[in-house]
Amino acid sequence: MNLGEGLKKIGVSAYIELIKKQKRLLISDTTLRDGEQAPGASLDVDQKLTIARQLGSLGVNSIEAGFPASSKEDLEAVKLIAKEVKGPVISALSRCSKGDITTAAEALKGARHWSISLFLGTSPILRKYSLNKSKEEVLAIMRDAIGYARGFTDNIAFGAEDATRTEPDFLYKVYNEAIDAGARAIGFPDTVGWLIPGQAKEMIEGIKKNVPGLNRALLAIHFHNDLGLAVANSLAAVECGVNVVQCTINGLGERAGNASLEELVMAIRTRKDHYKVNLNINTKELFKTSCLVSELTGIAVSSNKPIVGRNVFATEAGIHQAALLKKESTYVIIKPEEVGQDRTTIFLGRHSGKHAISHKLKNFGYKMGSKDSENQLETVYRKFKELAVTKKEVTEDELAKIAREVLNR
Ligand code: MN
Repeated sequence: MNLGEGLKKIGVSAYIELIKKQKRLLISDTTLRDGEQAPGASLDVDQKLTIARQLGSLGVNSIEAGFPASSKEDLEAVKLIAKEVKGPVISALSRCSKGDITTAAEALKGARHWSISLFLGTSPILRKYSLNKSKEEVLAIMRDAIGYARGFTDNIAFGAEDATRTEPDFLYKVYNEAIDAGARAIGFPDTVGWLIPGQAKEMIEGIKKNVPGLNRALLAIHFHNDLGLAVANSLAAVECGVNVVQCTINGLGERAGNASLEELVMAIRTRKDHYKVNLNINTKELFKTSCLVSELTGIAVSSNKPIVGRNVFATEAGIHQAALLKKESTYVIIKPEEVGQDRTTIFLGRHSGKHAISHKLKNFGYKMGSKDSENQLETVYRKFKELAVTKKEVTEDELAKIAREVLNR
């Protein structure tokens, strides 16, 4: 049962209870909102719809489709996605103002299931320099906004912007009042990428202990990657039992980006011995989704990016190649087809051993194994090595040419 169907069948409160009971981890994708805020990543309305449809195939539980009050294009994109993409809950970002909330609701109302994600700065530095408001004023603005949004939907999330640099006692007060005002999910974002894993655990345990209303609301996280820790911090939070993780395809997002969806999902799936939570992601769609987002945003994925990089299932070291050919799990923890990538590539270079060459020759159709062919293999291998020291990669065509010369075919 996807989140949309769940909400429809049993209502928000019962569904929140069920998610907790079943230890479900919901994946909220914000590639189209935070991801698109990455410098140079802007997408047009049709491109956003294409990505949203693919996110639906991937099986994310919700899609943050944009920030309708921020631009006409965002408003149009959210409207179109809300109308066209069924399955995931469609949400939109909104400041705590009546204008923003009205615009978000207007954009979302065509969706089968939708929610409004409100946010407001709570840290001392944002209260002083961004909002110029006291703690009491911040609480009042939040309560008013949630109350106003409830006029449109029962499905409201409230995120405390810069939560990780907010005084814990004030943060608990914010969350308690948000839930009392009607928020069904509370957001704990690491807006500036300040968090480290140990602190993530401490802060979330603190929230669980000091926010009694959490028994009727979901706890959601949204972590940034400024210190390269977004996924590690998210996993620490999953250990503490958070219900929703927000992330992006290829880790796109403001500055250094957000937690990368593919890394997070595959860490949880590969180490399910440790992370005892249930995920509904169709991982075979990960590579395709990554390629689509990279193509449409124009932001390339490095060849060694975990899970979706072009070379992460390739190996060149001779010892590894020899063992891999006998048993794949010797040096591989994820099967490439699990994430939609091609079979493990045997990369031919100066570190390749005789086993890999013999394997390729067999693939070319040569019969190997006799005494004669052993000698011929030696010669092919020597010639291959002579070529390999002169360049980074020996192509299959180049090896085939050597094989033809030596094996006389
Ligand atoms: Mn963000």
